Amino acid sequence: MKLVRFGEREAERPGLLLAGGVRVDVSGSGVDYDERFFGGDGLERLREWIEKNCSNAPRVDSSARWASPVCRPSKIICIGLNYKDHAKESGLEAPKEPVIFFKATSSLVGPNDAVMIPRGATKLDWEVEIAVVIGKEARYVDKERANEHVAGYVLHNDYSEREFQLERGGQWVKGKSADTFAPLGPFLATRDEISDPGRLEMWLKVNGAMRQKSSTANMIFDIPFLVSYTSQFMTLVPGDVISTGTPAGVGLGMKPPVYLKPGDVVELGIEKLGESRQKVIAFTT
Ligand code: ZN
Repeated sequence: MKLVRFGEREAERPGLLLAGGVRVDVSGSGVDYDERFFGGDGLERLREWIEKNCSNAPRVDSSARWASPVCRPSKIICIGLNYKDHAKESGLEAPKEPVIFFKATSSLVGPNDAVMIPRGATKLDWEVEIAVVIGKEARYVDKERANEHVAGYVLHNDYSEREFQLERGGQWVKGKSADTFAPLGPFLATRDEISDPGRLEMWLKVNGAMRQKSSTANMIFDIPFLVSYTSQFMTLVPGDVISTGTPAGVGLGMKPPVYLKPGDVVELGIEKLGESRQKVIAFTT
């Protein structure tokens, strides 16, 4: 299944994306895509509900806003420097163990919402990534069993403010957490839809120019390893998001570096996970 959410902020509702691109409103099933849904039998119940009710369920107007396909999770965990070519362009060594950092959950937005430059910021940068959504609580999970804890996969642009991240001291979280910095979607593809998440083409364009073009096959640490590894340090809760790192081609790596300005348009996609598009806007309160 392809899970979507739609509608205006504070009034978002769950839906399903059907083959052919039609979105169906499934709020009549009583679910939303949150911790309880993923941790319980939500996916099974939704599957049964849609079998009975799909033809009668309301269609979503094509103009309706696409929201994040998951409700605000307990954590957005990010993996740093998980592609060798990106570590190199960042002037850093490829890590021996995964680099883990957090992104504030308040940065979560819909896939096509505008991205806002934070107050006083000048170094807004892009990062196409495949993110994993946790389906079952994970604590000290073996790599061999990690997939059982995955609900599905989703496209993510891990927006970063490089000065806040790298020049202001302390942890990367400062440059990763501004409002609108985590556009997620268009949809969550459940695990059964993606036979091998380690073999998907990924790309990102800025104002029509290709900036990132790679494959999830180029990750240093693969998704089962990352789920297992992260679960050694914290409990992964259903609905949690783990974004797994970006390949080369970010603005920081260009010579000289190029950062986003108001009016720029960022488009990105991952094979089988759809595409998203964000327009860059200046800071407003
Ligand atoms: Zn990232």
